[in-house]
Amino acid sequence: MTSVFAYRKYRMSALSPAEYRRFHAFTHAKLRGGVTLLTFSMPLLFAVGWIRDYAVLGPVAHTTLLARLCLIVALLCLAALLRRYDISRMGEAVGIAYALTFGIAIAVLTALEPAKLSLTHVAVMLMAIILLPNCVRRSTAIGVAAGLCLPMFALLLYLAAPVGLWVAYLLFSAVGILIGMVQRSATLHATLDIFIHRQRLLRRLHQDSLTGVANREGWEARSARLHREHESSGRPLSVIFFDIDHFKHVNDQHGHATGDAVLQRVSTLLKQHLRGHDVVARVGGEEFVALLADTTVEDAHRVAERIRRAIETLGEPVRVTVSAGVTQAHPAESLETATQRADAALLQAKQAGRNRIVRA
Ligand code: GH3
Ligand code: MG
Ligand code: MG
Repeated sequence: MTSVFAYRKYRMSALSPAEYRRFHAFTHAKLRGGVTLLTFSMPLLFAVGWIRDYAVLGPVAHTTLLARLCLIVALLCLAALLRRYDISRMGEAVGIAYALTFGIAIAVLTALEPAKLSLTHVAVMLMAIILLPNCVRRSTAIGVAAGLCLPMFALLLYLAAPVGLWVAYLLFSAVGILIGMVQRSATLHATLDIFIHRQRLLRRLHQDSLTGVANREGWEARSARLHREHESSGRPLSVIFFDIDHFKHVNDQHGHATGDAVLQRVSTLLKQHLRGHDVVARVGGEEFVALLADTTVEDAHRVAERIRRAIETLGEPVRVTVSAGVTQAHPAESLETATQRADAALLQAKQAGRNRIVRA
């Protein structure tokens, strides 16, 4: 049996903010089906409750029918909103609103019929056990627990309930919250385990084993993400396409191992000159492409020139030079088109004599 403590090595706090956001979206995606099923089926409880009332009380139950129907509709609307907004902050508010609507509804129905006081805390406890494991953010979990419990305690105040009932309600809600939170923790740890292994696998699949920069798959995934972010916000984004000059000669004259060492040195230099949120990838044997976040073509040209000079003066393990094409992605243009333009500029740099940068 895998010990719960084995998961301690994967602490949520060890995730970077970007990783945490990805984990959050990943968990939501994994739990989405279950959350949809739960939140859409919970309103049924109120319908079943009415059938029970009708069986026990007869036609008197008609008095609560309209209130119950309104409530079922409200919960179904919130469930539909929750399905739509589950990844965003909005989802958190809707989740809490859902729990609060449930809590208020059950409190109001009990106020109308105090004989139900013996059932209310059980319903709230069950609801906490059902809803809490699906709350990804801790703040959502706290909000949901408060949304379920506060109306119930307001009800006890309103009915001036005896101390014994307060104790019973407190114990039941504490047990419900405890079980819900333990379940939530187990769910999150299991998802975190899958997430971390998936991240490692993706990193390996997306990384060039020789140089450590992204490979073509990595480029496609990361550049598409960066491009989407820039497209929606209208910030400038530039592409630089590098190619090592006469690299075949390096291999021919110094051997393949030296050629590999050159590729590694060039990759290290590229990473040093670019920032963490830029994307750099080896997309061909001795071809590298870089995507520069928040960068105009003028700035990208300057960066490319700095890299060209650094490689030219490096001289180890052998002296090599690079040529590059630079361009800025136009608004509403595909990244592929911009990359092709940078590639065409690179060709011009080669034709113009190599060891130079050409701006498209
Ligand atoms: P140009 O200036 O026109 O770019 O000439 P070039 O010789 O750099 O270009 P070409 O495309 O003719 O040759 C690229 C060479 O890169 C050929 C291939 O042997 C070498 N190459 C590709 N992948 C690797 C690799 O992983 N390691 C090594 N050492 N060499 C590689
Ligand atoms: Mg070359
Ligand atoms: Mg080439």
